[in-house]
Amino acid sequence: MVVTKRIDGKARADRLTADVALAAAKLKAEAGIAAGLCAVLVGEDPASQVYVRNKGKAATAAGIVSFEEKLPATISEADLLALIAKLNSDDKVDGILVQLPLPKHIDPQRVIDAIDPRKDVDGFHAQNVGQLWSGAQRKALIPCTPYGCLLLLRDVLPALAGAEAVVLGRSNIVGKPMAALLLAESCTVTIAHSKTHDLPAVLRRADILVAAVGQPEMVRGDWIKPGAIVIDVGINRVAAPEGKSKLVGDVAFAEALGVAAAITPVPGGVGPMTIACLLRNTLVAACRRRGRPDPQV
Ligand code: NAP
Repeated sequence: MVVTKRIDGKARADRLTADVALAAAKLKAEAGIAAGLCAVLVGEDPASQVYVRNKGKAATAAGIVSFEEKLPATISEADLLALIAKLNSDDKVDGILVQLPLPKHIDPQRVIDAIDPRKDVDGFHAQNVGQLWSGAQRKALIPCTPYGCLLLLRDVLPALAGAEAVVLGRSNIVGKPMAALLLAESCTVTIAHSKTHDLPAVLRRADILVAAVGQPEMVRGDWIKPGAIVIDVGINRVAAPEGKSKLVGDVAFAEALGVAAAITPVPGGVGPMTIACLLRNTLVAACRRRGRPDPQV
C-alpha cells in the first residue's frame, strides 16, 4: 500500500496568483498597461453569479482591472453579439469571459466565435482550439481548467513523456483540451467517455488519470492503477447528513488513498487552479495584443 500524496491545488494556485500579481504590477510600472478582464453574465443563475463574483475578486486582488456586464436572461442573441463586438474593440479589455451556460435561445458557439481570439481567455474559440491541437500552443490561449491540471501534474511528475494517460470525459471545456495538452507533453493518451467499453479496465492502464465526468465518486479505488497520479476535475454537490450538502469529485477519494501515488482533493484541488489560470491568461493576452513577450508565469 502506498502513502498517497494530496496535491494542494489551493497552495499552487496562490503561488501562481502571486506571480501573476507581480507580473501585472511590472507591466503597469514599465509600460503603463493595466490588464483588464470583462466577465459577461447573462441571467440570474446563482452558481454563475458566485463564479463571476469570485473571478472578479480574484482579478482585482491580482491587480487586474475587473469589468462586469450583467445582462437579463431575455437579452437577444443579436444584442449579446453586439456587446461582444463592443468589448472586442475596447482597448481597456484584454480578456472576455462569457459565463456559461447561456439561456437556451442563445447559441453558445456563435457567441464564442464572435470573441476576438486574442481576448478569448477561456480558450474556446476555434482559432485557439486549432492552435492547441496543431502544435502551435505557444500562440494559443489555453483553456484554464486543463492548463491548471497540467501545472499540478508537472509538479508531481516532472517527466511526463511516455506516461500512459487516460482522460475520462470528452467535453470541449475540459476533456478534449486536457488530452491535447497531455499529447503535447508526449504522453500516450486515451480519451474515455460514456460509450467506452469496460471503463475500469481502460482506467487501470493509466499512469495519469484525469477524471472530468460530473458523476459523483464514479471512479472506484480498484479502477486506479497502483502508483497512478489522479487529477479529479469533478465538482458534484451531494446530500450530506442533517439535511446538508457537500462537494465531492468524480473519484471515490477515500478508496483512492493507499492506491494512487497522488490525488487532488475536492474541494481544494483543481478548482482554485482554474481561476488562477484565468488571471494568467488575461495577463498573457494583455502582453500578446501589444506585441510584448509572454510574462514568465
Ligand atoms: P460535461 O460537458 O458534462 O462532459 C462530461 C463528459 O463525461 C462527457 O464526455 C461524457 O461522455 C462523460 N461521461 C458522463 N457520464 C459518464 C459515464 N457514466 N461514463 C463515462 N463517461 C461519462 O462535463 P464537463 O464540463 O467536462 O465537466 C466535468 C466535471 O468537471 C463536472 O463535475 C464539472 O462541474 C467539473 N468542472 C470543474 C471545473 C473546475 O474548475 N474544477 C471546471 C469545469 C468543469 P459523452 O461525451 O459520451 O456524453
